[in-house]
Amino acid sequence: MADGTATIDAAVIERWIRAFAAAVAENEELLTRLDSAIGDADHGSNLARGMKAVLAKLDGGPPGGPAALLKQTGMTLVSSVGGASGALYGTFFLRMAGTAGTADGIDQAGFAAALRAGVEGIVARGKAEAGDKTMYDALAPAVDALDAAMGGDDFSGALRAAADAAAAGRDATTPLLARKGRASYLGERSVGHQDPGATSAALLVAAAADTLG
Ligand code: ADP
Ligand code: MG
Repeated sequence: MADGTATIDAAVIERWIRAFAAAVAENEELLTRLDSAIGDADHGSNLARGMKAVLAKLDGGPPGGPAALLKQTGMTLVSSVGGASGALYGTFFLRMAGTAGTADGIDQAGFAAALRAGVEGIVARGKAEAGDKTMYDALAPAVDALDAAMGGDDFSGALRAAADAAAAGRDATTPLLARKGRASYLGERSVGHQDPGATSAALLVAAAADTLG
């Protein structure tokens, strides 16, 4: 199972997406509380609504391969979540889908590449740079840590390193001045608060470590 050719199929991706949905539901209040400090207090409800819609689609019978599943997830988030995060997470899953190809499964390196493509999609869409105090500040160190730890035969360990990097990146958003999104309107008053999107992004990577390894 630690073998680099192990296949990540639609069932595995579905487990990841369901784990993220569960984490969002569990942390809905926290995400909204963080967004009430530097935004408009809707990040938790936005994502919870979106992931509930994603689960409803999955319950209706998941589509074929990983790419179709990722695409369905991205489309559902884009259409069911108002707010910046719907477009950004939607783009993330759509870009992952575009990289996953049409096969029944992707290998571990393919998953890492798809994850990086998803993060690049967020940047293409939202133009965030490192240190802007966004979800990118959790996701960028995660994909870097994943790539750095790939190549060995411990995919679980690589995903755990990615989740740890995402958590550290999330924590490091607290002292930052927001330069993107609603929080940027606050200027200096955004300093001293953990970014809600970086917090949900760390949940996404943690869910991957919990289910894909
Ligand atoms: P909204 O800001 O529209 O109310 P949400 O509250 O759901 O949307 O999401 C806010 C989060 O979105 C922020 O905490 C931040 O992490 C992320 N975000 C906002 N703008 C951008 C951007 N341009 N690039 C990356 N992430 C962003
Ligand atoms: Mg908000």
